[in-house]
Amino acid sequence: MSDVFDGDGHAELLSPHPGGREIDLPRAQAAAAELLEAFGYRLDDENIAETPRRVAAAFAELLTPVPFNPTTFPNEEGYDELVVATHIPFHSLCMHHLLPFHGVAHIGYLPGERIIGLSKLGRVVEYFSRDLQIQERLTTQVAGWLQDELEPKGVGVVLEAEHLCMSLRGVQKLGAKTVTSALRGVVRDDARTRQEFLALTTRTSHDQ
Ligand code: ZN
Repeated sequence: MSDVFDGDGHAELLSPHPGGREIDLPRAQAAAAELLEAFGYRLDDENIAETPRRVAAAFAELLTPVPFNPTTFPNEEGYDELVVATHIPFHSLCMHHLLPFHGVAHIGYLPGERIIGLSKLGRVVEYFSRDLQIQERLTTQVAGWLQDELEPKGVGVVLEAEHLCMSLRGVQKLGAKTVTSALRGVVRDDARTRQEFLALTTRTSHDQ
Protein backbone atom coordinates (compact mmCIF):
# COMPACT_ATOMS: atom_id res chain seq x y z
CA MET A 1 0.00 0.00 0.00
CA SER A 2 1.33 3.40 -0.90
CA ASP A 3 -0.20 5.53 1.83
CA VAL A 4 2.23 6.57 4.53
CA PHE A 5 2.08 8.87 7.50
CA ASP A 6 3.78 12.21 7.22
CA GLY A 7 5.30 13.87 10.27
CA ASP A 8 1.92 15.07 11.56
CA GLY A 9 0.37 11.64 11.39
CA HIS A 10 -1.83 12.40 8.40
CA ALA A 11 -1.94 9.52 5.98
CA GLU A 12 -2.48 10.18 2.32
CA LEU A 13 -5.89 9.35 0.92
CA LEU A 14 -6.21 5.68 0.15
CA SER A 15 -6.42 5.13 -3.58
CA PRO A 16 -9.94 4.37 -4.89
CA HIS A 17 -9.00 1.04 -6.46
CA PRO A 18 -6.47 -1.11 -4.65
CA GLY A 19 -4.14 -2.80 -7.08
CA GLY A 20 -4.95 -0.37 -9.90
CA ARG A 21 -8.18 -2.16 -10.85
CA GLU A 22 -10.26 -0.20 -13.36
CA ILE A 23 -13.98 -0.34 -14.04
CA ASP A 24 -15.21 -0.35 -17.66
CA LEU A 25 -18.89 0.60 -17.23
CA PRO A 26 -20.04 0.17 -20.89
CA ARG A 27 -18.46 -3.26 -20.98
CA ALA A 28 -20.08 -4.21 -17.66
CA GLN A 29 -23.44 -3.03 -19.01
CA ALA A 30 -23.06 -5.12 -22.20
CA ALA A 31 -22.07 -8.13 -20.11
CA ALA A 32 -25.10 -7.70 -17.84
CA ALA A 33 -27.36 -7.58 -20.93
CA GLU A 34 -25.69 -10.74 -22.22
CA LEU A 35 -26.17 -12.46 -18.87
CA LEU A 36 -29.89 -11.62 -18.78
CA GLU A 37 -30.35 -12.88 -22.34
CA ALA A 38 -28.45 -16.05 -21.46
CA PHE A 39 -31.06 -16.64 -18.75
CA GLY A 40 -33.81 -16.29 -21.37
CA TYR A 41 -34.91 -12.71 -20.66
CA ARG A 42 -35.81 -10.39 -23.53
CA LEU A 43 -34.57 -6.85 -23.05
CA ASP A 44 -37.33 -5.22 -25.13
CA ASP A 45 -39.67 -5.22 -22.13
CA GLU A 46 -39.61 -1.73 -20.61
CA ASN A 47 -39.35 -3.13 -17.09
CA ILE A 48 -36.02 -4.73 -17.87
CA ALA A 49 -34.66 -2.51 -20.65
CA GLU A 50 -32.64 -0.36 -18.23
CA THR A 51 -31.61 -3.22 -15.98
CA PRO A 52 -28.17 -3.82 -17.55
CA ARG A 53 -27.27 -0.17 -16.93
CA ARG A 54 -28.54 -0.35 -13.34
CA VAL A 55 -26.70 -3.61 -12.68
CA ALA A 56 -23.44 -2.16 -13.98
CA ALA A 57 -23.89 0.99 -11.87
CA ALA A 58 -24.82 -1.00 -8.74
CA PHE A 59 -21.81 -3.31 -9.00
CA ALA A 60 -19.53 -0.38 -9.79
CA GLU A 61 -20.68 1.30 -6.58
CA LEU A 62 -20.23 -1.87 -4.51
CA LEU A 63 -16.74 -2.38 -5.93
CA THR A 64 -15.49 1.20 -5.52
CA PRO A 65 -13.92 1.99 -2.14
CA VAL A 66 -14.64 5.43 -0.73
CA PRO A 67 -11.27 7.09 -0.15
CA PHE A 68 -10.78 8.54 3.29
CA ASN A 69 -8.12 10.24 5.28
CA PRO A 70 -7.20 7.95 8.18
CA THR A 71 -6.06 10.69 10.54
CA THR A 72 -4.36 9.56 13.71
CA PHE A 73 -3.49 11.43 16.88
CA PRO A 74 -0.61 11.17 19.32
CA ASN A 75 -1.46 9.03 22.34
CA GLU A 76 -0.68 11.91 24.69
CA GLU A 77 -2.31 10.43 27.77
CA GLY A 78 -0.40 7.20 27.28
CA TYR A 79 -3.64 5.20 27.12
CA ASP A 80 -2.59 1.56 27.46
CA GLU A 81 -5.81 -0.42 27.63
CA LEU A 82 -7.72 -2.03 24.77
CA VAL A 83 -9.83 0.25 22.58
CA VAL A 84 -12.71 -1.83 21.24
CA ALA A 85 -15.47 -0.86 18.79
CA THR A 86 -18.15 -3.51 18.38
CA HIS A 87 -20.99 -4.16 15.94
CA ILE A 88 -19.71 -1.97 13.12
CA PRO A 89 -22.06 -2.84 10.24
CA PHE A 90 -20.55 -3.79 6.89
CA HIS A 91 -21.46 -5.45 3.62
CA SER A 92 -19.35 -6.90 0.85
CA LEU A 93 -19.60 -9.12 -2.22
CA CYS A 94 -18.57 -12.77 -2.15
CA MET A 95 -15.83 -13.45 -4.67
CA HIS A 96 -17.20 -16.89 -5.43
CA HIS A 97 -20.84 -16.04 -6.27
CA LEU A 98 -21.00 -12.23 -6.59
CA LEU A 99 -23.69 -12.30 -3.90
CA PRO A 100 -23.61 -10.06 -0.83
CA PHE A 101 -22.42 -11.06 2.59
CA HIS A 102 -23.17 -8.71 5.44
CA GLY A 103 -22.80 -8.48 9.16
CA VAL A 104 -20.81 -6.72 11.84
CA ALA A 105 -17.17 -6.14 12.62
CA HIS A 106 -15.61 -5.95 16.08
CA ILE A 107 -12.25 -4.23 16.16
CA GLY A 108 -9.89 -3.69 19.04
CA TYR A 109 -6.37 -2.41 19.40
CA LEU A 110 -3.93 -1.71 22.17
CA PRO A 111 -2.50 1.73 21.37
CA GLY A 112 1.17 2.40 20.92
CA GLU A 113 2.40 5.90 20.07
CA ARG A 114 -0.76 6.87 18.18
CA ILE A 115 -4.53 6.48 18.35
CA ILE A 116 -7.10 6.64 15.54
CA GLY A 117 -10.62 8.12 15.52
CA LEU A 118 -13.19 5.41 16.26
CA SER A 119 -15.26 6.27 13.19
CA LYS A 120 -12.21 5.55 11.06
CA LEU A 121 -12.28 1.91 12.15
CA GLY A 122 -15.58 1.56 10.30
CA ARG A 123 -14.12 3.37 7.29
CA VAL A 124 -11.25 0.91 7.12
CA VAL A 125 -13.68 -2.03 7.06
CA GLU A 126 -15.78 -0.28 4.42
CA TYR A 127 -12.73 0.48 2.31
CA PHE A 128 -11.69 -3.17 2.03
CA SER A 129 -15.33 -4.37 1.79
CA ARG A 130 -15.90 -2.58 -1.51
CA ASP A 131 -14.23 -5.37 -3.42
CA LEU A 132 -14.92 -8.96 -4.40
CA GLN A 133 -14.06 -10.54 -1.11
CA ILE A 134 -13.49 -13.66 0.89
CA GLN A 135 -14.37 -13.07 4.53
CA GLU A 136 -11.06 -14.46 5.80
CA ARG A 137 -9.13 -12.14 3.46
CA LEU A 138 -11.21 -9.10 4.45
CA THR A 139 -10.51 -9.87 8.12
CA THR A 140 -6.74 -10.10 7.64
CA GLN A 141 -6.65 -7.01 5.38
CA VAL A 142 -8.31 -4.88 8.08
CA ALA A 143 -6.00 -6.24 10.80
CA GLY A 144 -2.92 -5.87 8.58
CA TRP A 145 -3.78 -2.30 7.61
CA LEU A 146 -4.23 -1.26 11.26
CA GLN A 147 -1.04 -3.02 12.28
CA ASP A 148 0.98 -1.37 9.49
CA GLU A 149 -0.48 2.14 9.66
CA LEU A 150 -1.14 2.59 13.37
CA GLU A 151 1.68 0.41 14.73
CA PRO A 152 -0.27 -0.47 17.87
CA LYS A 153 0.92 -3.02 20.42
CA GLY A 154 -1.76 -5.37 19.18
CA VAL A 155 -4.86 -5.63 17.00
CA GLY A 156 -7.89 -7.89 16.96
CA VAL A 157 -10.52 -8.07 14.24
CA VAL A 158 -13.59 -10.31 14.37
CA LEU A 159 -16.12 -10.38 11.52
CA GLU A 160 -19.51 -12.07 11.79
CA ALA A 161 -21.41 -12.27 8.52
CA GLU A 162 -24.33 -13.95 6.80
CA HIS A 163 -23.49 -15.01 3.25
CA LEU A 164 -26.48 -14.92 0.93
CA CYS A 165 -24.79 -17.57 -1.23
CA MET A 166 -25.19 -19.87 1.79
CA SER A 167 -28.54 -18.74 3.17
CA LEU A 168 -30.51 -18.39 -0.09
CA ARG A 169 -29.28 -21.45 -1.91
CA GLY A 170 -27.49 -24.73 -1.31
CA VAL A 171 -27.73 -25.60 2.36
CA GLN A 172 -30.20 -22.69 2.93
CA LYS A 173 -29.43 -21.96 6.55
CA LEU A 174 -31.11 -18.57 6.99
CA GLY A 175 -29.28 -16.47 9.53
CA ALA A 176 -26.25 -18.76 9.82
CA LYS A 177 -23.20 -16.68 10.67
CA THR A 178 -19.64 -17.16 9.58
CA VAL A 179 -17.17 -15.84 12.14
CA THR A 180 -13.56 -15.03 11.29
CA SER A 181 -10.85 -13.43 13.36
CA ALA A 182 -7.36 -12.04 12.93
CA LEU A 183 -5.25 -11.29 15.99
CA ARG A 184 -1.90 -9.52 15.93
CA GLY A 185 0.76 -8.56 18.47
CA VAL A 186 -0.16 -8.76 22.15
CA VAL A 187 -3.82 -9.42 21.30
CA ARG A 188 -2.59 -12.70 19.84
CA ASP A 189 0.40 -13.44 22.05
CA ASP A 190 -0.62 -12.27 25.52
CA ALA A 191 -3.21 -14.67 26.99
CA ARG A 192 -4.84 -12.05 29.22
CA THR A 193 -5.20 -9.44 26.47
CA ARG A 194 -6.52 -12.05 24.04
CA GLN A 195 -9.06 -13.24 26.63
CA GLU A 196 -10.16 -9.68 27.29
CA PHE A 197 -10.61 -8.92 23.58
CA LEU A 198 -12.49 -12.13 22.85
CA ALA A 199 -14.68 -11.71 25.95
CA LEU A 200 -15.62 -8.16 24.91
CA THR A 201 -16.45 -9.17 21.33
CA THR A 202 -18.03 -12.60 21.78
CA ARG A 203 -20.10 -11.66 24.82
CA THR A 204 -21.68 -8.69 23.07
CA SER A 205 -22.34 -10.90 20.02
CA HIS A 206 -24.28 -13.47 21.99
CA ASP A 207 -26.41 -10.77 23.60
CA GLN A 208 -27.68 -9.64 20.22
ZN1 ZN B 1 -20.33 -17.19 -1.98
